[in-house]
Order: sequence, then C-alpha cells, then structure tokens
Amino acid sequence: MRIDLHTHSQASDGTQTPGELIRAAADAGLDVVAITDHDTSAGWAEAERVAADVGVVLVRGMEISTKLGKHGVHLLGYLPDPKYPPLVEHLAKILDGRNSRLPRILERLGEAGHQISLEDVHRVAGGTTATGRPHIADALVAKGIVVNRTEAFTQFLNPGRPGYVTRYAAPLDEMIRTVTEAGGVTVIAHPWGRGDPTTLGEEELARLQQVGLSGIEVDHQDHSPEVRDQLRAIARNLDLVVTGSSDHHGLGKIDHELGCNTTAPDQYERLVALAVAAAQRSGREAPLVLAG
Ligand code: AMP
Ligand code: FE
Ligand code: FE
Ligand code: ZN
Repeated sequence: MRIDLHTHSQASDGTQTPGELIRAAADAGLDVVAITDHDTSAGWAEAERVAADVGVVLVRGMEISTKLGKHGVHLLGYLPDPKYPPLVEHLAKILDGRNSRLPRILERLGEAGHQISLEDVHRVAGGTTATGRPHIADALVAKGIVVNRTEAFTQFLNPGRPGYVTRYAAPLDEMIRTVTEAGGVTVIAHPWGRGDPTTLGEEELARLQQVGLSGIEVDHQDHSPEVRDQLRAIARNLDLVVTGSSDHHGLGKIDHELGCNTTAPDQYERLVALAVAAAQRSGREAPLVLAG
C-alpha cells in the first residue's frame, strides 16, 4: 500500500487543480493520498469527487502556517471539521495576512527595479484561495525576470532578500488544540526542513505531544538521510507517529514527485485511529477517510 500524506493543489500553491492532483496520484500508483493545501480546505470538494471516480483513498487535510516563538512551523492537520468556528477564524486570519502583504511585497520589488502589478499576480494565481509568495514567483517567471520559483525565492522572496515581508501565523500550541477540538489530528511538517533542529528538538516535541501533537513528518525531501535517522529516533523515544510524504506542488516545486516519500501503513492506520478518537471526543462531525 503506497501512502502520500502531503500534497498541494491550485487551491493553494500547487499547479494542478484538485481533480488533476488526485488523478495524478492514482496514475503514480498511490493507494492513499492526502490533499493538504496551505491554510484552506477549498480543494476538498473537487478532490472528493475525483477520488471516488479513480478509486484512491482520500485523506482531507490542510497545512497550517503557525509560529513557535519567532520560528515559522508548518502544521499538517488531518480530518478536522472544516466548519469548526475557531478553525475557520484562524484560517481566515492567516489568509488575510497573506493577502494583505502582497501589495507591500510588490512595492519592495518595485523599489528593487521590478514592476509587478497585483493583476499580474492574480493572472498566474488562477483560482487559488491562498495567494502568496509562490504566485509572485510565478509572476516574476512570467515576466522573464527569473527562470523558476526556486530562483525567485533565492533572489527576491526568502527572508533577507529585497522582496521579503513577514505575515501573520497562528501560535502553534493554539493550532494543535484547535485542530484536535475540530476532531482532527496534527503532524508537524518537515520539522527540521528549514533551519535549525534546536527549535523542534526532542524536549520541545515532547511538550507539544502533551498539547496534543500526534506525529512528525520524517521522510521529506528537505531532510537529509542523517536528519531522518535522528527524527526517527526521537519519534521512537516519544512514541510519535512517523509520516513520509512528497509535499508535491505539481510543477511548482522540483524534486517533489508524488510518492517520492511514503508513509508506512501501520503509521497511517494509527493516525486515522487517533483522528477517529478525536472526532468522538469533540462530538464534531469530522470527515472520515474517504474510501476510493
Ligand atoms: P507564503 O505562504 O506566501 O509565505 O509562501 C510560502 C510557500 O512558498 C511555502 O509553503 C512553499 O510551498 C513555497 N516555497 C518556499 N520556498 C520555495 C522555493 N524555494 N521554491 C518553491 N516554492 C517555495
Ligand atoms: Fe507551498
Ligand atoms: Fe510546508
Ligand atoms: Zn507543503
């Protein structure tokens, strides 16, 4: 059984529609796929229809932008009730923050000599709910200023570069609680993927587990083999669920093909069981795994 628990569609910064993403997952030989767009469940409905058609098991999720101190942490939330009001409010605030910084980024790029308009960004962003740096990157590519998203980030959009502007992210502890109260489960995405392992070391992960965290994404392209070994050892010590995923973005991220990392069936089953338990505790109508 091949299981990929982290993918993006055009509902955030992937380049495939949710339907195209699920079809591609089936073509890639995946049995189970999670759709985890940034800060939105907007792609779920279309993904559900296509999953039923192509016979892929669909896990409905999202990748939430959170903060631990001043460090950005991406939190994967699986199977929460998307209508749980505190979750809806948090996501709206995050999406607002992302949208409201767009003009400021464009202003800075202008100061750096590159004129990009909001219309340019919306033209390449298509139907996304979460317009952000990846779409500005696409606009820079469309204008011939850079050759791909990666170059746009390294030249302009990463912290310390001329077009970087911070944005709101929800406190990590609060989001873990919110997703749990919504009847879902949480897994930290690429915990050591960017920057230092000290922020999310064993002690901190143990603390977050007390808050309600269920697992960590160990097998991810941003983790070297050594990092994966270290994270696996921590997960074993703490009895955290271990996941592996592609973090596929269609053509938006190179070397993140569907199924390039996968999650072991026993770990997936544990995660689903924890979600079922959270849904029962919350009394919310949390979505179940959708059998293909
Ligand atoms: P934003 O939400 O606007 O802050 O943009 C962050 C998103 O940009 C991340 O979630 C990634 O998916 C994407 N991203 C970050 N760095 C890169 C990169 N070097 N190449 C392509 N996409 C990237
Ligand atoms: Fe992304
Ligand atoms: Fe991420
Ligand atoms: Zn992601």
